Amino acid sequence: MNHPAIEQPADIVARLRATFAAGRTKPVEWRTGQLRRLRAMLTDRGADLAAALHADLGKSRTEAYRTEIDFTIREIDHTLDHLEQWLRPEPAPVPAHLGADATAWTQYDPLGVVLVIAPWNYPAQLLLAPMVGALASGNAVVVKPSELAPATSAVLAELIPAFLDTDAVAVVEGGIPETTALLAERFDHIFYTGNGTVGRIVMRAAAEHLTPVTLELGGKSPVFVDQGADLEVVADRLVRGKFLNAGQTCVAPDYVLTDPSTAAALEPALVRAVEALFGTDPAASPEYGRIINERHFDRLLALLGSGRVAAGGASDRATKYIAPTVLADVDPSSPVMQEEIFGPILPIVAVPGLDEAIAFINDRDKPLALYVFSESKRTRGRLAAETSSGGLGYGLPLAHLTVSDLPFGGVGESGMGSYHGRYSVETFSHRKAVLDKPLG
Ligand code: NAD
Repeated sequence: MNHPAIEQPADIVARLRATFAAGRTKPVEWRTGQLRRLRAMLTDRGADLAAALHADLGKSRTEAYRTEIDFTIREIDHTLDHLEQWLRPEPAPVPAHLGADATAWTQYDPLGVVLVIAPWNYPAQLLLAPMVGALASGNAVVVKPSELAPATSAVLAELIPAFLDTDAVAVVEGGIPETTALLAERFDHIFYTGNGTVGRIVMRAAAEHLTPVTLELGGKSPVFVDQGADLEVVADRLVRGKFLNAGQTCVAPDYVLTDPSTAAALEPALVRAVEALFGTDPAASPEYGRIINERHFDRLLALLGSGRVAAGGASDRATKYIAPTVLADVDPSSPVMQEEIFGPILPIVAVPGLDEAIAFINDRDKPLALYVFSESKRTRGRLAAETSSGGLGYGLPLAHLTVSDLPFGGVGESGMGSYHGRYSVETFSHRKAVLDKPLG
């Protein structure tokens, strides 16, 4: 624990605010220095983080590095490479009535003290990647890891103060009471990743102080598989995306929409793909993760009755294992289709065709991601134009969020605001309008 008895949220925020007010976090050299320290933390102590991620989620070392540690290092490197360019004032054309000598530009100002609240599913990446943006933008930052990934939370609480400027960066561990206490303080921005229910709590608390928020939420991300798509490729990529981290990924393919004959052909292809990736007994595969806790395990188990089990279905509560599972013949009104699955269950819902698939997507909350497997330009174009989602992936789930120059974020129920790369600087800065009319 982070000595809650010694330093209360109000004291932490006051301390960080004093640092910010003194101007310490503003120079680009401080920002890049902190990013290099964070990079050193990840290279020197990556093994500690990987071990914690294994303890919390059964993540393999490969997966921990790929999706959390190296992912964050890439985000840091991309930011270090481009930060000065992103921060450059941008000239704006001046209207004639202000005279030919007037100039105008925008300048990026840090916001002040920002709060980052992270979830448990990628408990390192989803805390550190927003922090990269907050530091790069010259802010002081309080980070709150998820209490549901306690090993990772403890390692972050130990390492962050050991590597970063403790007058400007603070880690507060804890659950609902600690987060509630933090949210009573005035921050200059709150960046929350998690579910929409808590997102609303965060936004209400932020409203008290007129604090802007970024909400990175979730929802059911659909997959559309078109007739004629190469189903071996589709199945391989779907299985890799869906069952990464045992399905506990905010942008995981949630369910598949396809026509009945493609559904029938896709089913055995998915069975083969699961076996190719995890073997006949995924419980024995070192690459396959576990469910975060018993509450989520029980929630997921109750969804297995929503369709015919085409692959997987096995589970073990003692080890929180649920096999990579494909459910066929799933009715849209069944329980598995009512909420974000956030686990290793992939339902296939048959629809007559593209029109019905588009209507199906638009009848529901705007998803964080939509994935489309189709060679048809017209089909791809229609899905892009006629649906709304945080991101859109053709042919490969999840991968759009690894493109540092793309904004990552949701729309509607899947969230508001975005980050990664220069979009993090947009999020964690104020774009100040400046006009200069010479006195002479
Ligand atoms: P979680 O339970 O770890 O909660 C997230 C954070 O909210 C934690 O730090 C927790 O302490 C805090 N919290 C919980 N209850 C609170 C309360 N009453 N008041 C204040 N703070 C509270 O994670 P979760 O919400 O179960 O995460 C899963 C959800 O997050 C899924 O919906 C998933 O799609 C979404 N998600 C989105 C993204 C994204 O980038 N858009 C990434 C990962 C997860």
